[in-house]
Amino acid sequence: MIAAAGSGERLGAGGPKAFVELAGRPLLDWSLDAFREASCIGEIVVAVPLDREVDVTERGHLAVAGGEHRSQSVANAVELCGEEIVVVHDAARPLLTPELVDAVVERLASDPEAACVIAAAPVTDTIKQAGESGQVERTLDRAGLWAVQTPQAFRADALRDALSDPDSLPDATDDAMLVERRGGRVLVHEAPPENLKVTTPLDLRVAELLLRDRA
Ligand code: C5P
Repeated sequence: MIAAAGSGERLGAGGPKAFVELAGRPLLDWSLDAFREASCIGEIVVAVPLDREVDVTERGHLAVAGGEHRSQSVANAVELCGEEIVVVHDAARPLLTPELVDAVVERLASDPEAACVIAAAPVTDTIKQAGESGQVERTLDRAGLWAVQTPQAFRADALRDALSDPDSLPDATDDAMLVERRGGRVLVHEAPPENLKVTTPLDLRVAELLLRDRA
């Protein structure tokens, strides 16, 4: 499933982020390409903003209306997903590759104890925690810290269980944290930092340059 129902307020493009143009095509289309080319993907379900379902169905995929928060959009889409493995991806990460989709699924399939495998890149910055005044309270040990991305591959039953408590969804910044809270085994799979998330106009520019390089 692809989460594409965000408003895109921080990007300031005057419309939903997933439909903002990137290198000549809507942002969403780049992730759709990678899903279509991945060998492990069957049906594709996209969570979209209100009244944008047709933008997905005309591309030959299933569409659902998104929720108020990201994980609510995921929960709506998961209703239409299969019973085995579900890959969750944010349309905001257009540099996704089919190889990365297949890699997280293969790693999950090869570990029967794992509930979820998530793409992530090792943190390269020094990370500090600061209070409201800006005063630093502590410096975290960078070793073992990961900047988490999507795609995230889940056993479908573990994901459905994790999303079943509506009160836990608004604060979730990814779905793997909901699985972790229920004691599920979550594994990181090292992904390239170029699988960046488009949040600001600068990110859009960088993503465009990287996509043109690829072409
Ligand atoms: O807002 P943020 O950048 O964290 O959104 C990450 C992804 O989740 C984006 O692809 C966005 O379209 C999607 N999203 C969603 N439903 C929401 C909010 C965000 O599908 N209610």
